[in-house]
Amino acid sequence: MKKLFLCTCNKTLTQTLDFDRIQKELGDVFDSIHTHDALCLHDGLAFIGSETSHEDSVVIGACTSQIIGPPLAKHIKSDMKTIVPLREQVAWVHKDDPKGATNKAMVLLKDGAIQVNHMAPPTAVELHSENRVLVVGGCIAGLRVVSDLVRLGIEVVLLEPPEWTRENYIEAGQFMAESKVVKDTVRDLLSSCKKVKRIQGSVTELSGRAGQYTVTLKTEKGKDEQILVGSIVISTASTQEVPSIAKMCHYGKSDRTLVISELTDLLSKQPAGQRMTILVATDPSHHQTTVEGSYLLRNVRMAAEKGHTVILAHSDISTKDEDLYRSARRAGVIFVRGSLERVKKAKDGMVCRLENTMESQVREFKVDYLVLQTHLGPWSGTARLASVLDVDLDQYGFIKTRYAKMKPVQTSRRGIFIAGCGKMPMRLEDALVSASNASLEVLKEVRKKGERRGWIPVVDEERCDVCEACINVCPNHALRLVDGKVTHVPLNCEFCGICVSVCPTRAIEFQAHSKESLLVRLEEIAKNHKTLEGQKPFSLVYACSECANASIDQAGFTGKGYPTGSYVIQFPCAGMVSPIEILKGLAVGAERVTVAHCMPGGCHHQTGDRLSELVVEFTREMLRSINQDPERVRATYMIAAQPNKMQEEVAHRG
Ligand code: SF4
Ligand code: SF4
Repeated sequence: MKKLFLCTCNKTLTQTLDFDRIQKELGDVFDSIHTHDALCLHDGLAFIGSETSHEDSVVIGACTSQIIGPPLAKHIKSDMKTIVPLREQVAWVHKDDPKGATNKAMVLLKDGAIQVNHMAPPTAVELHSENRVLVVGGCIAGLRVVSDLVRLGIEVVLLEPPEWTRENYIEAGQFMAESKVVKDTVRDLLSSCKKVKRIQGSVTELSGRAGQYTVTLKTEKGKDEQILVGSIVISTASTQEVPSIAKMCHYGKSDRTLVISELTDLLSKQPAGQRMTILVATDPSHHQTTVEGSYLLRNVRMAAEKGHTVILAHSDISTKDEDLYRSARRAGVIFVRGSLERVKKAKDGMVCRLENTMESQVREFKVDYLVLQTHLGPWSGTARLASVLDVDLDQYGFIKTRYAKMKPVQTSRRGIFIAGCGKMPMRLEDALVSASNASLEVLKEVRKKGERRGWIPVVDEERCDVCEACINVCPNHALRLVDGKVTHVPLNCEFCGICVSVCPTRAIEFQAHSKESLLVRLEEIAKNHKTLEGQKPFSLVYACSECANASIDQAGFTGKGYPTGSYVIQFPCAGMVSPIEILKGLAVGAERVTVAHCMPGGCHHQTGDRLSELVVEFTREMLRSINQDPERVRATYMIAAQPNKMQEEVAHRG
């Protein structure tokens, strides 16, 4: 039975939509139509549960799937279901046009009926993940991950760089907090890692997949060792590099020139009451990071608070903590915007020639110590480790995270996480928080066991040319060539559908979103729109189910209205859209097709933003070559913070 449930949403939908007309005109599309208030609340959910069975196909016309989807999943028995967001995408954005809104609601509800008609039952997949984790350490955050995981009952192997000692952890953490805090933290964490297997060496090979990675290690003694793990955490440290002005400042040649991490020790060795003049200089050729800036300010403030005269010669100070800057000033630090021109060794100190760029003055003065700010960069083995583990690096050589805001501890490879300074230099508190986040993600990964039901990409072996395009494009290593056949690895799959868009023979289909069904849907949307709206133009927005869909929902929440002839088709990822769907949209009569993806670089599936831009550019090129208007096809990003994007996009029609 095909059933439609309509939510009145505390009468907010019935104020705009003509439910009587909808029920009457869709009577032959559904076997039954039920109207209820607040379907997302307990009574409504219980009502749907009592009215549906496993065999039914169900269309819910209510609010966005972000709201009603999760509670609905617990109450509805059928897998064949779809949600039509009548509230955010119809009633709330077309308040001024009730007739057009009702027509649009009917087009979308009929589309929902086609979707459930074409759904195949989801596949049950077996999940099994190893309850063992490899932490590639070096940073304090790695020790925290080990300590967290041990408490959670997960077996951990800690791999440290060769000859790594407690002192190395302390040294690597010098810029993260005051020396004593770092020492205490390392001591506590090391004591909680006592029973953990620790190996010193490096990773030489990785095979397998998330949940079951086989890692080959070369131990310090040159022995190869293989371990099977469910997940890997990278927690390599950041390192300090001496700045380009080091040579001019006689660093390494004079004990009067130090780097910033040596300042604490210098201060601790000074006899009480002995005052020094210290010039701290930044590197004018280096763009300071906020972590470097904060570390610098903490240190100069500490020296000034101890009564020393501190001059900070800087080109720029970057910090997220304005208080740090103010407190350094209050402590008496003298800020001079400028750079060192020349440094000479002198008896008991250094003579520094400093150009004050604000006052266009050059001054020379003698200081007891010259202290240089260092650059904080990735640990030297990061690039090699990233290459062996096949994870991406960012432009500075740190391990790249998938999506800084939403997935801050995920690397580009599933099941491999990053904690602490391996992704960027950070304060101790932040490193420990990132370690705990990584521990939680690891926990989710290694606890994947049992059966999961879902729609997966299915390869038709008859059609498959084994060109491997899908294998190469999959951002999650979820497709493999096994015995000459493309094989899907459900544990790795994010169900983004990107593989579907690249297959030249259409041999790979996403079960719940087959190309066939999509083409039928487009034809029906066009036909139903014409029946109800005549020659009124319409446009299609192919929106990813992440940021773009959130932006369109947000347009509804904030009442940013747009014309009724704008139909949103949701894709798991914009990277799933191929020229076929775009051209089909134009062929059925849409005056415009927009592909909406996440922010550039912010795709939840890593590559969907770039792929969809390429696909759109390619399609525009095709249109140009046959003298058609390429402006009918566009790609754009949409994010929840910009709810007006949908309004602007569909206003461009024609
Ligand atoms: S749906 Fe996405 S993650 Fe899954 S196999 Fe295809 S491309 Fe890979
Ligand atoms: S892209 Fe299509 S034809 Fe090529 S290997 Fe994958 S399923 Fe087969």
